[in-house]
Amino acid sequence: VANVPTECVIGVDLGGTNLKAALLAGDGALRCETRRVIAGLRTAELLDALADTVCELRERAREPVAAAGFGIACLIDERSGLAASSTHLPIVGVPFAAAMEERLAVPVRVDNDANMALLAELRAGAAADARVAVMLTLGTGVGGAIALDGEIFRGARGAGGELGHIVLDRDGPPCGPGCPGRGCLESFVSGSALARAAAAAGVPAPAGRALDGALVSELARGGEEVALALLRSLGEWLGLGIVSLINVFDPDVVVVGGGVCEAGELFLEPARAVVAERAGAFAGAHVVIRQARFGARAGMLGAALAAREALAGRVAA
Ligand SMILES: [Zn+2]
Repeated sequence: VANVPTECVIGVDLGGTNLKAALLAGDGALRCETRRVIAGLRTAELLDALADTVCELRERAREPVAAAGFGIACLIDERSGLAASSTHLPIVGVPFAAAMEERLAVPVRVDNDANMALLAELRAGAAADARVAVMLTLGTGVGGAIALDGEIFRGARGAGGELGHIVLDRDGPPCGPGCPGRGCLESFVSGSALARAAAAAGVPAPAGRALDGALVSELARGGEEVALALLRSLGEWLGLGIVSLINVFDPDVVVVGGGVCEAGELFLEPARAVVAERAGAFAGAHVVIRQARFGARAGMLGAALAAREALAGRVAA
């Protein structure tokens, strides 16, 4: 197809602790992956660290870099372009894309990290065959994203798709930082929630290891009974959340990603059982619940693809 862009672009995934970046070459492969710790940086230092990372990759590229995309752990106000709300990054009120374009002198595309992850799954991963897809990423918190007719749906201003905050229990546990709610999906199925449940159940951490969601997943995969039961319970809560999403969106695919997904089927199987029992027969019959394909690389890849697609839009205009 003549108008599929294949320019070399850079994709950056900016989380609360680390930034990860890579080149997306014309052949569709991510190259020169790099990572930097950004926890504790102030606004200007953070923007400089991002620009430095992109410039380093640009020097390593074998062809000119045409654009850069950023998936960031932040909501972006679509009307103003300002970073609007973030739990961990000191960029609220920053016109992020404009600030990076000024530093980099290439077109910049920016979006929420979960939206970028779903874009990667939509274009080349677990949602490639879907017209309507929803994604949940189970990490420290729970990210969410929605794709309708092959495009990311962001709501009226860019705050849509926060699927981790659908409410499952009015009197449930308090949600994570940045959310005033209780009993949100996130408070039952995040890595943090899994770690809290494991601590309460007395799951012992091996010496030198913190009891976090990744460790509980690891123990469950090793056959540890309590850890297995906790993941089963997580899967059942996840299934309840997915039932609501099925009733709202009637998706072809529900993609589940994020760090907890190392334990994939241990909780997806109970989630599917809840969906089979509680979702309406018409919408529930065809929906597929699948693990994400790109794992920790989805944010970078989606950001790079978004940069490329934005470029194609500009060329066409
Ligand atoms: Zn919440």
